[in-house]
Amino acid sequence: MKILVPVKRVIDYNAKPRIKPDGSAVDLANVKMSINPFDEISVEEAVRLKEKGVASEVVVVSVGPAKSVETLRTALAMGADRAIHIQTDEAVEPLGVAKILKSIADDEKPALVILGKQAIDDDSNQTGQMLAALMGRPQGTFASVVNVDGEHVLVTREIDGGLETLRLALPAIITADLRLNEPRYASLPNIMKAKSKPLVTKTPADLDVDVTPRLATLKVAEPPMRSAGIKVADVDALVAKLKDMGVA
Ligand code: AMP
Repeated sequence: MKILVPVKRVIDYNAKPRIKPDGSAVDLANVKMSINPFDEISVEEAVRLKEKGVASEVVVVSVGPAKSVETLRTALAMGADRAIHIQTDEAVEPLGVAKILKSIADDEKPALVILGKQAIDDDSNQTGQMLAALMGRPQGTFASVVNVDGEHVLVTREIDGGLETLRLALPAIITADLRLNEPRYASLPNIMKAKSKPLVTKTPADLDVDVTPRLATLKVAEPPMRSAGIKVADVDALVAKLKDMGVA
């Protein structure tokens, strides 16, 4: 059983985003970039399924500029077997990424595609759902437990007020939530080994996928500055303060 894991190169979660002076986008010049944290969780899950003997191959794919190869090498160092880089310098929207992933999945025929639940740069939370719709396959989003059971996969999802477990027929699409697992650190020998694992590069045009943007970003702005808080001596003072402010 093959598992396909899409991984996105995003601004590192510790980096403080700066907005371009013209307010058109986040300025990515000289900013630390990393694998999307939810995609690291997806890679970990796929590699664990391979270690358990459930999966036979883990293929990672990234859509993005030349430097996305670094992200793919990170995933290879964690234990993925081979990588596909779809190279483009244009920002590709979730629908474009989903179309590219469908084309790759039609070719590779994975039993599972495990995506992150969202990319932390655009917070879209759309690509997995769009891919499932384009492929006509069942989806288990926000997975916190994944168990493959013969021709099915059991996906436990975190929903309002509790947990829900779905049984999906394979092939299926899963999106990983934060509590699915704790990703491993790649060891130095594995980082070295990853350099010689197979990686192919293609373009969206090679796959005959149109990634022309359909959305226009009107403005990107910093969140408003928060005013400084105050400290109160005890609970009574807090309640009095809240009453003063008319919120209690
Ligand atoms: P989003 O819908 O943009 O929040 O992204 C959800 C998930 O789709 C991510 O966690 C990745 O698994 C996948 N994804 C989104 N964009 C890309 C990309 N450019 N390359 C590879 N995977 C992507």
